[in-house]
Amino acid sequence: MIIVLKPNITKKEEQVVIKEIEKLGYKPCVMRGVARTVIGAIGDETTHRSLETLMILPQVENVMPVQKRYKLVSREGHPEDSVINVREDIQIGGKKFHIMAGPCSVENEKQLITTAISVKKAGATILRGGAFKPRTSPYEFQGLGEKGLKLLYKAKQETGLAVITELLSENHSDLVAEYTDIIQIGTRNAQNFQLIIAAAKTGKPILLKRGMTMRIEEWLLAGEYVLANENPNLMFCERGIRTFETYTRNTLDLSTIPIIKNESHCPIVIDPSQGTGRSDLVVSLCKGAVAMGADALLVEVHPNPAGAWSDGAQQLDLKRFETLVKEIKPFIQSAGREI
Ligand code: PEP
Ligand code: MN
Repeated sequence: MIIVLKPNITKKEEQVVIKEIEKLGYKPCVMRGVARTVIGAIGDETTHRSLETLMILPQVENVMPVQKRYKLVSREGHPEDSVINVREDIQIGGKKFHIMAGPCSVENEKQLITTAISVKKAGATILRGGAFKPRTSPYEFQGLGEKGLKLLYKAKQETGLAVITELLSENHSDLVAEYTDIIQIGTRNAQNFQLIIAAAKTGKPILLKRGMTMRIEEWLLAGEYVLANENPNLMFCERGIRTFETYTRNTLDLSTIPIIKNESHCPIVIDPSQGTGRSDLVVSLCKGAVAMGADALLVEVHPNPAGAWSDGAQQLDLKRFETLVKEIKPFIQSAGREI
């Protein structure tokens, strides 16, 4: 930590700060400038950030960390990319680019299986579908629950696709883990730490969405909970943040791709469906995401978006998904990946 003292502090006042730093178990290193004094406090600041309390001293102007608050997700301690083993034949974060596709909500067998067969044929390797749905209103469709999980499992057996679905409650962690290959933690739960821990403890790969009002540092720290609970299989998923813009449902922050790649060794997945709320924008944002180095896409696809029970405006129909995959192929190749 760097402790900046206010200008014109007496030696006596400086001594008080030094004593406090020592009391907290750090080694002070005093640097006296012309106008003011700066004290470096040497010690492991990531374990407990007690030095921040020095801010209450009247002679202290600022206390600044020099170490990152996240350790395990950080690239500093793990320079090579993490490759997430979803299944023997599906690795995310490696050379192969993956597309996760399927309906926002699992509605019925026909809807799910039709979608699964079609997205698989088009090139997807992972089927998405919400069985437990986090809806803003309690009067909207809440998902089929366990029945939805069973349908996902059936679709997986029939198509060979892996499955990703959202976990909404700690009470369901074992149940969801039984049926899915990847557990999705949604934007509304991105800082629900008990839920994240419960998900991590299942041992399943975790896809952690970015909270819609979350800073990147907070998101990385939420991811830290997964790795700190002995689950190395974490993927970050950008799905748009809330801004003042009204042309899109959310503002899809593609700058997170190079930032997450720089800060972390974990893969980054882009969800342009929640990210824009508009099916007409999904293809362009997929191209941008792939070109910028995303490791995978999460795309909502429905056989009849107009009749969807949730998020109809942002879902691609089966034909449009097929053309999407064709259209992003050159971008996948130019990004040095293969599909
Ligand atoms: C979803 O994937 O359907 C979903 C609810 O996502 P998010 O948590 O990003 O809103
Ligand atoms: Mn959705």
